[in-house]
Amino acid sequence: MGANEQHDVVIIGGGVAGLIAANRAAQLGMTVIVLEKGTAEKYLCNTRFTGGSLHICHRDIMHDEAVLQQAIRDNTAGYVTEDFALLIARNGRRVVRWLQDEGLKFMRASASEHHRWVLAPPGRSKPGVDWEGRAGDVLLQRLERQLKQRGGAILRGAHAQSLLSEGGRCVGVAALHAGARQSFRAHAVIIADGGFQGNADMMRQYVTKHPERIKQRGAGTGHGDGLRMAQALGAAVSNLEPFYGHVLSRDAFTNDLLWPYPLLDALVTAGILVNGRGERFADEGRGGVYVANAIARLDDPLSAVCIFDRDIWEQPGARELVPPNPNLPAVGGTLHKADDLNTLAGLAGLPAAALKAAVTGYNRALSAATQGSSDPLPLTPERRTLRYKPMPIAKPPFFAVPVASGITYTMGGLSIDLHTQVVRGDGAPIDGLYAAGIAAGGLEGGPQIGYVAGLARCGVTALTAAEHIATQVKPA
Ligand SMILES: Cc1cc2nc3c(=O)[nH]c(=O)nc-3n(C[C@H](O)[C@H](O)[C@H](O)COP(=O)(O)OP(=O)(O)OC[C@H]3O[C@@H](n4cnc5c(N)ncnc54)[C@H](O)[C@@H]3O)c2cc1C
Repeated sequence: MGANEQHDVVIIGGGVAGLIAANRAAQLGMTVIVLEKGTAEKYLCNTRFTGGSLHICHRDIMHDEAVLQQAIRDNTAGYVTEDFALLIARNGRRVVRWLQDEGLKFMRASASEHHRWVLAPPGRSKPGVDWEGRAGDVLLQRLERQLKQRGGAILRGAHAQSLLSEGGRCVGVAALHAGARQSFRAHAVIIADGGFQGNADMMRQYVTKHPERIKQRGAGTGHGDGLRMAQALGAAVSNLEPFYGHVLSRDAFTNDLLWPYPLLDALVTAGILVNGRGERFADEGRGGVYVANAIARLDDPLSAVCIFDRDIWEQPGARELVPPNPNLPAVGGTLHKADDLNTLAGLAGLPAAALKAAVTGYNRALSAATQGSSDPLPLTPERRTLRYKPMPIAKPPFFAVPVASGITYTMGGLSIDLHTQVVRGDGAPIDGLYAAGIAAGGLEGGPQIGYVAGLARCGVTALTAAEHIATQVKPA
């Protein structure tokens, strides 16, 4: 390879978005190279760790597009525009079919709708990190083989540094490779570098005062390089504050068997979450992703404790694919247990009077609601009841689990148009520049921090980018 290569397409990042875009571009007759900063044969990225479930808003991805579009509208409270919601709703199924054609196998991992189309074997199998030979690992290996057969290349150890531009058009990427700066010129560049969750400064700027107190629930390889590079060319960005993540045991910082699974979301959404003063601080009824964001915004994100009782532990606590009951204590996660709230408060280091007031107030609002009907429960903060069923904290033993916010990826990113071209503040596209996967913004988030879907979002934007570039590079 020369010092100034020319390609039809250069892609920054070899995760699912980068490799789907690369293969689709090669299928459409374009020359393509993927620049991947990881050096290992099995370089880590969020895709390598994925659970592998292709869904949209936890609905079956094969559902009627109107149903899926409505789910995106509801989940994001209209933050995702109708056009983008339709793009994802319509093309999600195409991603599954396209991956099947590439030779990937899907299975049903549970009776839940969102586990209908899961890459086999699934990534969510037992507590701790367990990716070798599983969903994302199989996917990346397969897509790399396909790319090579199509004449494309993936260059490991190539760390993209800046975009090349001429007359306002993006014409390539400058990268560090083997200690030297190298230029990769192209008709189009696709940024697919996976978000900025691994960049402590950007996390501090947009997400939390204490990035070091947020657990990376993935590879942590997304450093926002693409955002920075594209902004230097005048790119606009979408809302960068919300992130996709879950509630984890606080011990996940020191015990690798406690991340990325088990998730503690089911305990939090059935019981309550309190801060170090023993007070509720978030609407648990909005779900684990919302609550993980609320924990990250606390003055001390390592002060939150989840409180629940025996019924919650034995019912929702035992239902997930890798449930906290029995996995949390089985792998050494802290689970305080007591027959009364006073003792529990002492074990968890919480003020007993405040904890009792929080539990009593919650139980009282819940019992009043079951006699009439009330959503949200009249509490401060209020508590929604429709999506996640709140349960009384009444039957001993009572439990307390110190929790942490786990970040999987940042939801916001580069503003794009419907062709996934990166746009400026005035909405005009930057010629030759595209974003796919988690690098592309405006596809999740909003006031409810609505989760849409990582993999489906990656697949749809990757196919769209490659197909639009083909119309520019090789017009029919
Ligand atoms: C534990 C876990 C479970 C998940 N489960 C699911 C699930 O079941 N369903 C679902 O829909 N989603 C799931 N997700 C989310 C989904 O896996 C991700 O959203 C998706 O894989 C992100 O793909 P990506 O290609 O955008 O980014 P990544 O996979 O992170 O790839 C980005 C790549 O870019 C490279 N890179 C970064 N900067 C540069 C640079 N400057 N130069 C060159 N290369 C660079 C990185 O090294 C990385 O390899 C899960 C994620 C995790 C971590």
